[in-house]
Amino acid sequence: MRIKIIKASPKKMKTKPKDESKLGFGKIFTDHFFNMKYKDGKGWYDAVIEPYRPLKLDPTAMCLHYAQEIFEGLKAYRGPNDEIYLFRPTENIKRMNSSAERLCMAQIDEEIFMEALKKMVILEKDWIPRGSGTSLYIRPTLIATEAALGVHPSNEYLFFIVVGPVGAYYPQGFMPTKIYVSEEYVRAAKGGTGFIKAAGNYAASLYASRIATGMGYTQVLWLDAKENKYVEEVGTSNIFFLISDELITPPLTGTILPGVTRNSVVKLANYLGVKVAERLLTIDEVISSLEKGTLKESFASGTAAIVSPVGQIYFRKKEYLINGGKTGPLTEKLYNEILQIQYGLKEDPFGWRVKILEGKKTKKK
Ligand SMILES: *Cc1c(COP(=O)(O)O)cnc(C)c1O
Repeated sequence: MRIKIIKASPKKMKTKPKDESKLGFGKIFTDHFFNMKYKDGKGWYDAVIEPYRPLKLDPTAMCLHYAQEIFEGLKAYRGPNDEIYLFRPTENIKRMNSSAERLCMAQIDEEIFMEALKKMVILEKDWIPRGSGTSLYIRPTLIATEAALGVHPSNEYLFFIVVGPVGAYYPQGFMPTKIYVSEEYVRAAKGGTGFIKAAGNYAASLYASRIATGMGYTQVLWLDAKENKYVEEVGTSNIFFLISDELITPPLTGTILPGVTRNSVVKLANYLGVKVAERLLTIDEVISSLEKGTLKESFASGTAAIVSPVGQIYFRKKEYLINGGKTGPLTEKLYNEILQIQYGLKEDPFGWRVKILEGKKTKKK
């Protein structure tokens, strides 16, 4: 299948933001978007990049009623010679298809998906900001569009990709977060949808987040749904603890989202000679390690921030400081290493970077 490109007329193009320090996250989108339709019996058809516009949906489109909706999040980065990179995009493509499978949605051909990512980013390359830590966020989304009520898998789908410039996550340096351990609400149960990027998971998480933010905390630390004691994730990120000399993250047992950043942190930490364990970890072990002083660092991992240091934990009406509320050295090291690989500032021993556009001024020596 070919991807048709219909360009926006120059008169209708948006003005690009001038001040890159004010980009924020998820507020600005570019001039075009990719979309492609699916129908049972016909397969995928009408792949097009066209001027950005609202979607046309029947009020009974099944995504609106029964939440057959999944998404992905990745970024495009501008390198020092103006070359453009994606970071491990195949991981996002595979994860989207595993999400689709779990929700009985149509899967997307990997090659078309990759081509759509590349064509979108290259077409919108002038939107990719230049400032340190800035990037172009990419949001692939798959929704059920059959116009029908009655619970069953939709026989029609729409896949689309929107992209938009996002600012540096830490414009003024790291800001350790304060996290709130929820014992009342859970994010995901075994056998459920915790391991996929399903829109419904996020709706279900908002109430606990609101309680946490209302009490002055940044994020919820989720515990497992069955025994209410194993640490699982923080907000919409994976979680790591450095206890003694071991970097610990919960294993992928079906309730945790397999983060691309999580996997990158595990591989990089191993490569750097840090002992890494993917194992069950109880909140009691976290708290007792804090009391003993063996819990040295904690951070969340995800595409938006790479790593986000945790400076404080609230559990059963008590507050515990981690590393004096400051960002730890391993957290900072992992952040810098991954950032430099993503932006082409450093060798990439893992082959994670995918260059999708050559730089203009390649250095001649
Ligand atoms: C997206 C997401 C993550 C992080 O995944 P990355 O691929 O590293 O961005 C972690 N947990 C949840 C619940 C998520 O939705």
